[in-house]
Amino acid sequence: MNEQPGTADYLLSIVIPVYNEEQGASECVRRVSKVIEDKIGCRYELIFVNDGSRDRTLDILKEEKEKNPHVKIVDLSRNFGHQAAITAGIDQAHGDAVIVIDGDLQDPPEIFPQLIEKWKNGADIVHARRLVRHGESQITKVRAAIFYRVMRQISTIDIPVDVGDFRLMSKRVVDELKGMTEQRRYVRGLATWVGYNQETIGYEREARFAGTPSYTLKTLIDLAMSGILGFSIEPLRLGWYSGLLTVAISFVMLAYWLLTHESAPNWAPLMVALLFIGGLQLICIGIIGEYVFLILDCVRKRPVYIVRDIY
Ligand code: UDP
Ligand code: MG
Repeated sequence: MNEQPGTADYLLSIVIPVYNEEQGASECVRRVSKVIEDKIGCRYELIFVNDGSRDRTLDILKEEKEKNPHVKIVDLSRNFGHQAAITAGIDQAHGDAVIVIDGDLQDPPEIFPQLIEKWKNGADIVHARRLVRHGESQITKVRAAIFYRVMRQISTIDIPVDVGDFRLMSKRVVDELKGMTEQRRYVRGLATWVGYNQETIGYEREARFAGTPSYTLKTLIDLAMSGILGFSIEPLRLGWYSGLLTVAISFVMLAYWLLTHESAPNWAPLMVALLFIGGLQLICIGIIGEYVFLILDCVRKRPVYIVRDIY
C-alpha cells in the first residue's frame, strides 16, 4: 500500500547534480528553497552533488550552507558524470518524496507544487515532460526528439518520450533504485522500470540561468548507449535481421542466374557482396563487444561513484 501523507509533515529531498555551476549555484538554492517555503511548506533537504567541479562551485555551496541549513553537499572524488551524480544524491536522500532537478535551472522549480500534488494523489513517479525547449539549438532539439522516439520503439519498457531526469519519485521507488547495482546508469530508464503508478506532467524547459552545458556529443552518445544497452535487446537482434536479409539477397541472385542462364558475372558484384557481408559482420561484432564490455563492467563491481566528503 502506498502511503502518501496528506499533511505538510513530510520530508522532501531535492537532488541537484552540479558540475562547474559557480555562476548559478546560489540562484539555484534561492529559487528552489523559495518555491518550497512559499508554495509547499514541508520539511526539506537540498542535496547538491558536486560532481568534481573544477571551478568555485563547492566553495559557493559551502557559503550557501552557512546561510541555509537545508543545504547538504555530497562532494564526489572526481567527475563521474551526470547519471552517477544523480545516483549519489538519491543514495543520500531520506525524503518521503525525492525530486531530481538539474542545477542549471533549465528545469523550473516552480512546478514542484504540481509534482507534489500528483504524488499526494497517489502517483509514485511523476515525470516532467519537456513540451518546449528554450535556449537550445535546432540540432539539439531534433537530435533529442529522434532519440526519445527511437528509444521508445526499441526499449523493453515504456519510457515516456521527451522526459529527462527531472522527476519526482516516492520513497518506495527510491528504495528500489538504491538497491540497484547496475554500473552504467540510465536513471530515467531505471526509475521507469520500477513500475507502480507513473504519471507525466508537461513543462517548458528554460534556457540555462548561466554557464554553458557540459554535455558534449561524446557524453551524449554515451548516455544514449547506456539507455540502449540497458533497456533494449534490438541491437543484438541486428545480427539476425541483417543475416536473414543477406541470405535472402543471395537466394534472389542465385535464382536470377539460374533462370536467366546468364554467364557468371565478373568480380564487381562479388566484391560488393563480400564487402557488404563483411561490413555487417563487423558491425555485429562491435555491438556484441559493447555488451561484453557492459558485462565486464558489472563483473568488476566498481562503485558507481566515490564520495570525498559530505557537508
Ligand atoms: N552535470 C553533472 N555532471 C556532469 C555533467 C553535468 O553533474 O558530468 C550536471 C550539470 O551541472 C547540470 C546537469 O548535470 O546541473 C545537466 O547538465 P547540462 O546542463 O550540461 O546538460 P543538458 O541540460 O545540456 O542536458
Ligand atoms: Mg542543462
